[in-house]
Amino acid sequence: MLVTNHVLSGALLGAAVRSPAAALPLGVASHFALDALPHWGQWLSRAHFLRVATADGLTGLAVMGAAAALTPPERRAGVVAGMVGAALPDLDKPTRVFFGFSPFPRRVNDFHGRIQDEAPGRFYSHEVVAGALFAAGFAALTAAARAGRRTRARP
Ligand SMILES: [Zn+2]
Repeated sequence: MLVTNHVLSGALLGAAVRSPAAALPLGVASHFALDALPHWGQWLSRAHFLRVATADGLTGLAVMGAAAALTPPERRAGVVAGMVGAALPDLDKPTRVFFGFSPFPRRVNDFHGRIQDEAPGRFYSHEVVAGALFAAGFAALTAAARAGRRTRARP
């Protein structure tokens, strides 16, 4: 699954549970759960993978920044922890490309590789739909939190 979608699902989880201590491990668990669901993948070549991964990585970073900025300060730590936890298992992609190794134990790498349910042609039907749902859930929780703050701030 695209890391952008892992980030969005992590933001949603963090907004829902609020606690950073809960959001971080839940984010990590969500990563593996989402990777086991059908998603877009199986690239035509290394160049194709790098093109997708670069655009996806930069989009994921931008989403992290935007989600953190949109989240009210008292909930920000939970949202950031959710996003970091959800993105963390894919840290091996850039380290493999740039340094030639994965920072995770072999058992984790094997598990992460084994659970993938990837197929080409699933960008719009799976990735875009999942991303839109995660973003909508995060936006709804964040809007509700902001509305709650305004109500509480009123005399
Ligand atoms: Zn993954």
